[in-house]
Amino acid sequence: MENFKQQSASPREVLESLAAKQGLDLLGPAFADHMDNEDPLRGMKDRFVFPRLADQTCVEGIMAEGEEEECIYMCGNSLGLQPKTTKDKVAETLNSWAKLAINSHFHGSLPAAYCDNYGRETLGDLVGAAPSQVVIMNALTVNLHLLLLDFYQPTETRYKIMIEGHAFPSDRYAIQSQVRLRGLDPEKAVLQVRPRPGEHTIRTEDILQLLKEEGPSIAVVCLSGVQYYTGQKFDMERVTKAAQEQGCVVGWDLAHAVGNVEVKLDEWGVDFACWCTYKYLNSGAGCLGGSYVNARHNERTGPRLQGWWSNRQETRFEMQEHCDRSSAVDGFRISNPPPLLIACVLSSLEIFREAGMARLLQKQFLLTGYLEMLIKSHFRRGDNERPLVTIITPEDTSQRGCQLSLIFSFPLKQVHKEISKRGIMCDIRQPNVMRIAPAPLYTSFRDVHRFVTILGSVFDLCKTEAG
Ligand SMILES: *Cc1c(COP(=O)(O)O)cnc(C)c1O
Repeated sequence: MENFKQQSASPREVLESLAAKQGLDLLGPAFADHMDNEDPLRGMKDRFVFPRLADQTCVEGIMAEGEEEECIYMCGNSLGLQPKTTKDKVAETLNSWAKLAINSHFHGSLPAAYCDNYGRETLGDLVGAAPSQVVIMNALTVNLHLLLLDFYQPTETRYKIMIEGHAFPSDRYAIQSQVRLRGLDPEKAVLQVRPRPGEHTIRTEDILQLLKEEGPSIAVVCLSGVQYYTGQKFDMERVTKAAQEQGCVVGWDLAHAVGNVEVKLDEWGVDFACWCTYKYLNSGAGCLGGSYVNARHNERTGPRLQGWWSNRQETRFEMQEHCDRSSAVDGFRISNPPPLLIACVLSSLEIFREAGMARLLQKQFLLTGYLEMLIKSHFRRGDNERPLVTIITPEDTSQRGCQLSLIFSFPLKQVHKEISKRGIMCDIRQPNVMRIAPAPLYTSFRDVHRFVTILGSVFDLCKTEAG
């Protein structure tokens, strides 16, 4: 595939020209197959374990055609698939513990005492940071708390934390509780930037305007890089710059951004960031999170929660009276890391290293564009034969990653139930959105085509039943 991103063409225009060149019907399955044949990442699908329909006994009325039929997986934004290598890597780590016992702390394939130093390079690449500025530790919300305890230093006049309206609940609760911990009232100290009435996503100009108006009272701006509900990607670079010009500290929650969109934390001068690794990064539910601190904060000395892992590695085992705190993000660590979970993170990072973010972004541009194009062609406004599907994720490809959030003119739960029976895995979120995320690492054009075909057949069915 050529570098389409450098052109200003929309994904639809690119897809149309590719189909025309081959003399293929843009909407037909043969074009999907053609795109898959041309996909340099097509082999990556094989690196993952796909859930089989027959195993989904939790889904009422599952319609499996055979034992081996695989589901179409559209929720890598929620929980990534298991890499086939994860089992072996975990087994190897278990073996190391069994065979070496205490000696596995410093020896073996993934020495416990150093295991959180592995993978920094790939992790850094994924978020555009030097390896020394990122670390794998804890879980996302825990990391958000640890970072805010240091970076949120409210004063009499500058005490607010800005988040987006409808932020992921865990972030909201974390921030509300941080504010309360400092004796402040969340009603006054948590500032939410929201979409305009009648709109679903937040305009960059509105974020910038709010920063202009409220800047001097904002201590920390803490938005998500990609919004979990709408799939909107914020202009992280511009927002960071504008907020810092107002004297705010800027932290990004990259849960839905890492492994999904381009992130350049060092270049953008972001103060801190954190993310989980079990969504696009496929490390397994609840697995370890990642954190970033900009180099300009390496020598911060303010009070912080500490443990033995905050201590510099070189002197950690001297067991000194006072903590000889590591610089940079390493000084935010508290406890010794679990090698079993690091193994899960590493097996996924190896796949990302191989696939390369640049190629993933290329494919994502076309694959999500393909999904968008099919939905718009099949379920369009004015076609009163069928329920309407509205995509609330921005059409502008610089404002989204792989996820599209859909709203139906039909009861969401019913649609979800019917497509689940037919082997589509995706999720719905209150109040009324279905999130479809064709992760470019393991989703084919044919999968997307099948998804839209099944959605169409289910719509016909729902309509008949309702009628
Ligand atoms: C997934 C997600 C979380 C989950 O937090 P954990 O601490 O890993 O349970 C938090 N915030 C956002 C924005 C998320 O997308």
